Amino acid sequence: MSNIKRLPSCLPIPLEEKELTELVSKAKDWALMHGIGMRSKTSFSEDSINFAPFVLLPSTFPRKQFEKAIEIQTILNELMHRVAHNRQFLRETLKDTIQVDEFTGNLFKIWETVMEEGVAQKLSLGLLRSDYMLHSTGSNNIKQVEFNTISVSLSGVGNGVSLHNRYVLEELNHHDKLQNLPENNALTGMSQGLLEAWKIYGNTEAAVLFVVEDVTYNICDQRFHEFELRRLNPNVKVLRKTLTEIHNESALSSENELLVNGVMVSVVYFRSAYTPDQIPTKKEWDARLLIERSQAIKCPSIQYHLAGTKKVQQALAKPGAIELFLNEAKKIAAVRAVFTGLYGLDFDEAGDQAIQMALDDPERFVLKPQREGGGNNIYGKDIRDAILAMKDTKERTAWILMERIRPPISTGYIVRPGNPNPPPLVEMVSELGIFGVVIGDSQNIMINRQVGHMLRTKNATADEGGVAAGLGALDSPYLI
Ligand code: ADP
Ligand code: MG
Ligand code: MG
Repeated sequence: MSNIKRLPSCLPIPLEEKELTELVSKAKDWALMHGIGMRSKTSFSEDSINFAPFVLLPSTFPRKQFEKAIEIQTILNELMHRVAHNRQFLRETLKDTIQVDEFTGNLFKIWETVMEEGVAQKLSLGLLRSDYMLHSTGSNNIKQVEFNTISVSLSGVGNGVSLHNRYVLEELNHHDKLQNLPENNALTGMSQGLLEAWKIYGNTEAAVLFVVEDVTYNICDQRFHEFELRRLNPNVKVLRKTLTEIHNESALSSENELLVNGVMVSVVYFRSAYTPDQIPTKKEWDARLLIERSQAIKCPSIQYHLAGTKKVQQALAKPGAIELFLNEAKKIAAVRAVFTGLYGLDFDEAGDQAIQMALDDPERFVLKPQREGGGNNIYGKDIRDAILAMKDTKERTAWILMERIRPPISTGYIVRPGNPNPPPLVEMVSELGIFGVVIGDSQNIMINRQVGHMLRTKNATADEGGVAAGLGALDSPYLI
């Protein structure tokens, strides 16, 4: 597209080849030595870590837009907390989707089961992240890509990435530029959220349980939270268990306390259980239900998980929806301004119109299912095929159509394990994430904070850019 804007580089490029090669070698070692890493998917070993893909020089980002994203985080936290506690809205919004999307349907059943039985723990802990891209073919303002409520990643390694970019600029003798790298304390902020939930539960003997995948690639990000939590308070025990292990090793006491091998758990922090393959059999579903039935404070609770679905995001973009949850006009306007076009594919007039729009101009949209973790969306011409295949079936109600955001292009170096040094100059686009922490129940919000940021950058030609999925690279914003 010809009218896509460009962002300047933070310093003159290309770098001279010898200087670049040396800098990349140093930057790789710095990354490895400071835990900016991931386990290899191709040669997994518990004994080694690769550096995570990173962008050598921090990418420029408009300061005003960055500040806006920071500023609205607590409003979005409040909004999503209220959405999670509005039964009628969640029920109405998801009623068709849960008929066809089995995974979301099963989550919904857990929610209904615990509501019928009586909720054992009224408080929820939200460790959240709102993601944005700059809308370059329009106003160049930020637009929300999505709002994540489960297993939000990259607050752990994000701190280090900010320091990494600082190190690289210093190596290039650009000390004057450091002031444009905003401070980032996401790791401490998120870990404090876990610690506060642990304190509120009020049992110093109780543990924080990390629910993990069978194999964890994004290990540094997870361990940083564990280590930071223990640095903040060495008395907090941390357990790491898969849902299968939890199924085999856990029970509820007569008071619904969660016991894992006899150890009481006060906070359950999900770093798994957000994709169908992570809850593969009845055993794992039973474990998910057991946790929800317990007194432990869940991050996220089942209603928070449901509130984070794409279908809910789309429903919130309908006229009058935000107004159900927020009452200050200024807050409502600020949230509305970051939403882009979102359309449901329900069997109604609006759904039929959306189907027609997608068929007429598929390049304008992204087609999204109710999935997390990257790599699930449909783009461009494939949208037409997908829509034609499902438009007369119920399947369509499990998808949403979203206006495609066209972020501005920047030029820089992406460094990946196994790639040649020096890396080529490439065209890139970035996605900004802002982290939030909420603790509260259906009546009150006790804690509501914005705690830091992360930037992910990918090749401009790639549709998606998950770092753990192997497409994106860690970056941090250089404010201009
Ligand atoms: P997930 O929950 O799987 O991360 P996302 O909604 O974040 O789902 O989509 C994954 C990726 O797809 C995003 O990180 C972004 O790169 C791309 N993407 C999603 N929505 C849009 C959009 N509206 N415009 C442009 N790119 C998008
Ligand atoms: Mg997501
Ligand atoms: Mg995402």
